[in-house]
Amino acid sequence: MKLELHRIEMPLRNVFRISRGEISVQEAVIVELHDNGDSGLGEATRSSYYGHTADSIVSSLEQLAEDLREYEFTTPESLWEFAKDRLSQNYFALSALDQAAHDLYGKRHRTSVFERKGLSWKNVPHSSITVSIASIPEMLEELQGFAGWPIIKVKLGTDDDLAIIQALRRNSDAIIRVDANCAWTVEETIRNSYEFAKLGVEFIEQPLPVHAPIAAKRTVFEESALPIIADESCQREEDVRQCDGLFHGINIKLCKCGGLTPAFRMLDEAHSRRLKTMVGCMIESEVAISAAAQLAPRLDYVDLDGAVLLARQPAQGVKVHRGSIARPVGFGCGVHLDSSLV
Ligand SMILES: [Mg+2]
Repeated sequence: MKLELHRIEMPLRNVFRISRGEISVQEAVIVELHDNGDSGLGEATRSSYYGHTADSIVSSLEQLAEDLREYEFTTPESLWEFAKDRLSQNYFALSALDQAAHDLYGKRHRTSVFERKGLSWKNVPHSSITVSIASIPEMLEELQGFAGWPIIKVKLGTDDDLAIIQALRRNSDAIIRVDANCAWTVEETIRNSYEFAKLGVEFIEQPLPVHAPIAAKRTVFEESALPIIADESCQREEDVRQCDGLFHGINIKLCKCGGLTPAFRMLDEAHSRRLKTMVGCMIESEVAISAAAQLAPRLDYVDLDGAVLLARQPAQGVKVHRGSIARPVGFGCGVHLDSSLV
């Protein structure tokens, strides 16, 4: 197998702010995996929170490339087993490789990933679109641009969180979800949960820091008026078990867990524990969105707006229009590179 790596910069439509910082250009690495005339695509983006840069992703994959040269590809799952220890320090790189392996396998065997997993494109939930942190007038302006989206996800962790949700509620009938990105205390979370429940908020994502005491997480789990979804607290497969009894659901992201191979297993584990399931994304192109969309028929909640937030991106894949996730077209993950943009 041969790895071809493309480093790209993707400008955003608008500056995107969360409780930890802001971004206007996203750096990504697109992986093309070639084998016997077939190829597949995957993607990983930089993330300061998870400590990965485009450089670190490229260098991890370049180190693996030599081992892959003689590797005999059979299934994405066996490649994941082969690569996971070699990329144990960089699951973002592992995710990009695994997405590409799924895409390649599907294109070779003329099946889409979700069909290979026995799923059909029925009852696929709508995706939310994210309103990032800004002044209330700016957030309302951003909201106007999202007219027609049935679900909005609001980034919080400011001094004005309640006023923000009150203002958005006055101006929108959409379902509102909130994401505090670890910025709240136990008391704030419980207080906000009651206020937000009155305003029709559906759930709260990751209110407490990852390293908050277990007792704090349990108090929030038991006393919150709204379901609590783990994001930063649920990164890899082994975290699903830890979330049982401390969260009502989990937000899986391919880059956190290392790709579609573990993501499908995490869904099985979450369902067996009656945890709600969601798949989220980074600000990333239709390469990664098309891969993550393969999980959509099995989810309770979907947050795959990453490519919508970009002004320009290098691929044609699964489209998310006003929350509706189009059925993937073609085989694999249903994505093709726009070669003029990489
Ligand atoms: Mg989140």
